[in-house]
Amino acid sequence: MKTYQMLVNGQWVDALNNDHFESSNPYTARPWARIPRAQVADVERAVKASHRAFSAPSWAGLTATARGALLRKLGDLIARDAEHLATVETQDNGKLLAEMRAQMRALPEWYYYFGGLADKIEGTVIPINKPNTLNFTRHEPLGVVGIITPWNSPLLLASWKLAPALAAGNTIVWKPSEFSSASALEFARLFEEAGFPPGVVNVVTGFGSQVGQPLVAHPLVAKIAFTGGDQGGQHVYEASARNIKHVTLELGGKSPNIVFDDANLDNALKGVISGIFAASGQTCIAGSRLLVQRSIYDSFLKKLTASASTAKLGDPTADDTQVGPITTQPQFQRVLDYIEIAKQEGARCVLGGGRATAHSCGDGWFVQPTIFADVRPDMRIAREEVFGPVLAVIPFDDEQDALQIANDSQFGLAAGVWTNDIGRAIRMSNGLQAGTVWVNTYRSVSPLSPFGGYKRSGIGRENGIDAVKEYLQTKSVWFDAGNEVPNPFIIR
Ligand code: NAD
Repeated sequence: MKTYQMLVNGQWVDALNNDHFESSNPYTARPWARIPRAQVADVERAVKASHRAFSAPSWAGLTATARGALLRKLGDLIARDAEHLATVETQDNGKLLAEMRAQMRALPEWYYYFGGLADKIEGTVIPINKPNTLNFTRHEPLGVVGIITPWNSPLLLASWKLAPALAAGNTIVWKPSEFSSASALEFARLFEEAGFPPGVVNVVTGFGSQVGQPLVAHPLVAKIAFTGGDQGGQHVYEASARNIKHVTLELGGKSPNIVFDDANLDNALKGVISGIFAASGQTCIAGSRLLVQRSIYDSFLKKLTASASTAKLGDPTADDTQVGPITTQPQFQRVLDYIEIAKQEGARCVLGGGRATAHSCGDGWFVQPTIFADVRPDMRIAREEVFGPVLAVIPFDDEQDALQIANDSQFGLAAGVWTNDIGRAIRMSNGLQAGTVWVNTYRSVSPLSPFGGYKRSGIGRENGIDAVKEYLQTKSVWFDAGNEVPNPFIIR
């Protein structure tokens, strides 16, 4: 067992009460790491360190150009250590090593992009409607940002917050998921090496109730950037309101992948499989509702089932594995529960439908790739996020019907449209209520393109040029060039 410490004020420390919890490898279902189990006093210590660092000359005195250089240096270090970080991620969250490698190789791009942006955040001189007056804006950092992240793509999702928050000049207290803290702690070493001053980035590990909630409640935390489920997000939003914090929320989804009969069906098939079975369906953007035009419904379903049935389950570190385990034991149980609910609701199970027990799955938390056909839009399997390899297939007749079914959801994170008709693609992408619409592709993300949810899928945007504004506040500065002061009792 490897024992980790957390990063507070530039020091590697245990929790103040010296308590730990275990992190398990989802493939073996055995614990492999001991992680500090922090409590409210640890949060207090980290927030105070972060608050001091925010105004310390070693950070506040840096030019934006120097901050950008630190971020770009960090990107270089991530590129150097990508293989190691990918290995730790896989050991801790069970996702395919191939996928984690690709994520870690792409990760520096976020630090290069926002590092480059750091000294291009410009205020505006306002052509103010008053004589002999200069009015301009400055965009200033918020202060201490609390970052709370889930377990499914731990470092990628944290970087979507860390890179713009640091580029803007904030300081950080990061609480990673209790199921994937090891990679966060390995990653945190690179901040030191890149040269970030002590206290600028702190990592406090532990559980939502013991670390997440005190972080959200802390009066010195100016903003919470949260990625997680919609229930957790709702709690964070409510608690943040108590001391008027800035909040961004990246929450769950029930994204529709919509296949029209005029589409390139071979590509659509791959897009559907990638949308729901890659990462064992444990992505917020999972295309967990498949809407297929009725004219091709039976033939497409047949091909899809045949193709998904060949998916190779097993060791996430093996090159030929396509579907790995579910990351956590509670999530594994939750996915199995949803499969039972779907069966009881009368959905027709055409593939999978239970725990995967193949020899290659060992003792791991594996669920068979599962497809339910003839799902009605009012069934729970069509409405609630499962976060596992479970697909709900729904037929539709025409564009209006597809839009009506697709938008009839409390979520609005993403949607896929498969068609070769350009007019239809435009009408569908205009009509879909989702923060991201992919036409003839699925699961593409980039530091350059905004990402976020409509409806219960979240508030605010990550990635893209405007993401940095989520970590800034605007100050309007007025200079008077010596005008005579008129009546002081009347607004000027
Ligand atoms: P979760 O909501 O259970 O936990 C997320 C994080 O919040 C964890 O670190 C947890 O400890 C913490 N937390 C939980 N309750 C809290 C509270 N009341 N106060 C403060 N912190 C709290 O989510 P999860 O199970 O780790 O991750 C899966 C969920 O995340 C799914 O719903 C998925 O859709 C969502 N997700 C969204 C995105 C996105 O970008 N939109 C990306 C990945 C995952």
